[in-house]
Amino acid sequence: MIAGNWKMNPVATDFEPLTRAISEGVQDLAPQSEVLLFPPALYISKMLKLTNNNVHLSVGGQNCHHEPKGAFTGELAPQMLVGIGAKHVILGHSERRKYFGESNEFLKSKVDAAIEAGLTAIYCCGESLDDRDANQQQSVVEEQITKALLQLSSEQFTQIVIAYEPVWAIGTGRTASPEQAQEMHRFIRALLAEKIDTRTADACRILYGGSMKPSNAIDLLAQPDVDGGLIGGASLKAADFCEIVKAAG
Ligand code: PEP
Repeated sequence: MIAGNWKMNPVATDFEPLTRAISEGVQDLAPQSEVLLFPPALYISKMLKLTNNNVHLSVGGQNCHHEPKGAFTGELAPQMLVGIGAKHVILGHSERRKYFGESNEFLKSKVDAAIEAGLTAIYCCGESLDDRDANQQQSVVEEQITKALLQLSSEQFTQIVIAYEPVWAIGTGRTASPEQAQEMHRFIRALLAEKIDTRTADACRILYGGSMKPSNAIDLLAQPDVDGGLIGGASLKAADFCEIVKAAG
């Protein structure tokens, strides 16, 4: 699974050519390949129309609220995403945590609402540079997962994808080494096995995110517990993104 998070990009004139180029570039993939695109919510419907004959490609939202409706100016209910044809939503991205103050407890309510609405949540976790320097990365990630995901049943967990995104690697050009990524992915899978069950742990897709690009994708994606990637910057360049998708096999 390779997911592209476009964040608050691209500008309107680039939207259609970029969508078309990616859709064309990811047509002849292995049957199990899944490519997800997360444009700004404004573009979801249009993207679905432009890509609707591409069986590998799904479109999702970058965020949602935990209430189904109400006086929440500027927000989007999970049911609204479902209503326009989105199947996935990103929750807990480090930018949401940092700039919008989203806590693990608040994210738990979003996760529950997204699952209830029928979406698959791409739940992001990852430590800051200070956490890693203090060798706290595993306890930080464990807390992020425990507080927002471990209330879910194994059946509900089939609607969860975890994205491990070390904050120090997002948009910085600095990438976790394949060994660092594998170590954390293995830790997350072991945590799920211990707290839920091994079937859930084995089935859960764990993506790596943080400056993934064509030059490092093969080595990162070759790690046994790395099931795909969540791509920011490189998903805005069709050729780079398609190369990463192909590296995922
Ligand atoms: C992201 O924002 O989720 C991300 C991984 O960004 P980048 O690939 O640009 O580091």
